Amino acid sequence: LDPDVFSKESHAVVDFIADYYRDIEQYPVRSQVEPGYLSKRLPESPPIFSEPIDTILGDIKKDIIPGLTHWQSPNFYAYFQANASTAGFLGEMLCTGFNVVGFNWIASPAATELESIVMDWMAKMMKLPSKFLFSGGQGGGGVLHGSTCEAVVCTLAAARDKILNKFGFDCITKLVVYASDQTHFTVQKASKIIGIPPCNFRSIPTSASSGYGLDADDVRQAMKVDIAQGFMPLYLCATVGTTAVGAVDPLLELGQVAREFGVWFHVDGAYAGSSAICPEFRSYFDGVELADSISMNPHKWFLTNMDCCCLWLRSPAELVDSLSTNPEILRNKATDEKEVVDYKDWQIALSRRFRAMKLWLVIRRYGVAGLMEHIRSDVGLAKHFEKLVRMDTRFEVVVPRRFSLVCFRLKPRFGATNDDDGLKTNRRLLDAVNSSGRAFMTHALIDGKFVIRFAIGTTLTEMCHVDATWKLIQDIATGLLL
Ligand code: PLP
Repeated sequence: LDPDVFSKESHAVVDFIADYYRDIEQYPVRSQVEPGYLSKRLPESPPIFSEPIDTILGDIKKDIIPGLTHWQSPNFYAYFQANASTAGFLGEMLCTGFNVVGFNWIASPAATELESIVMDWMAKMMKLPSKFLFSGGQGGGGVLHGSTCEAVVCTLAAARDKILNKFGFDCITKLVVYASDQTHFTVQKASKIIGIPPCNFRSIPTSASSGYGLDADDVRQAMKVDIAQGFMPLYLCATVGTTAVGAVDPLLELGQVAREFGVWFHVDGAYAGSSAICPEFRSYFDGVELADSISMNPHKWFLTNMDCCCLWLRSPAELVDSLSTNPEILRNKATDEKEVVDYKDWQIALSRRFRAMKLWLVIRRYGVAGLMEHIRSDVGLAKHFEKLVRMDTRFEVVVPRRFSLVCFRLKPRFGATNDDDGLKTNRRLLDAVNSSGRAFMTHALIDGKFVIRFAIGTTLTEMCHVDATWKLIQDIATGLLL
């Protein structure tokens, strides 16, 4: 890496990205290309000789940008947001720029120590119980992963090994994982990965009456039935802000059930965890003190560019028992004397990125006040959109809004005689909005209803974008219902 070339070329790339953000509203939000479009444009073989950066950037503009779905567009309302911010980007640049691999403390002491400090800062912002903090003095602590999926795999492995060490490896076929029918599929996938038989995953139904939150009595009943049949309840996952509709599971009641049956209790706040920094949302996390582990993704709603997932544990020692390896090649005095955290033992891979740099920059550049303002402004826009939906009698808000996600649909009686037709009409409405290229939203099926999800959260979205998208939705609906 030649510092002069690096400086010149990285300036060109930064200018290119700045132009991309400046022009972003010109592009169709959801890519309109057909499958296989890129192989028709790119050469079959790699270049033999080096190409100039300007030529490559030209090709990115011509060939790659048309195949991007623009997640940072102000009119992107699909899935959940993947926030980008100047600080998140700069932090990512520093992380990539240093390119250190802090698998253990000695491999880059600052990377490890900054991560532990930032995890405590985050926990303090979210008012997590002190038992999850390094500084809490009760053995707790946190780690940065790339995704919730990794965090869940690791905590499940720790829970599994705790039980297997006690009762023997043969009981693996008896272990059962509990979640709701709204829990992210990452939990089901993770339990398969760690060797739980797929038929031992219990997806407990939720209903409109509880706002699609998990009912603690249903979980208790399911565990009792399983125990009576010789199974061993292992792990319960509760979610604050489910993916499809933003539902909240009652942590306190579920935590009590988890205690009753001695199961590992994990709280998934991938999306809505960020809101815990605002006092008005913190009550959704009441009961988190009963959790064994909690995770949330700053790369969703905390202005932190991909990727970044915070995982806290009441007892990281249980995680380390399950995941640690101590090859001679990595031996060093600090590790041998047990003076330090070696994060390689808190995750799946050995290598790891300096993600703490990114999160630290975000927290310092925006401050707690700025981050709270960011959450509140998105929620304010969602409230505004919800009001617009409620004012048009052809539409309904299907699930109570809690955060910055609004789930709505055209009422079946307009444009349809039964629910099945309501489903078709709403699907056509969504397809038409997305094909227009002017906005991108996605859907969920809840109780057989086709629901359109309007997830607010890109940093460029302002009131004018929300208003224009609502007008687009209304106009298309009018055309469909004529
Ligand atoms: N949990 C919830 C509630 C989510 O909404 C998501 C993603 O949208 C995930 C977990 C998966 O997160 P990741 O992609 O970081 O594994």
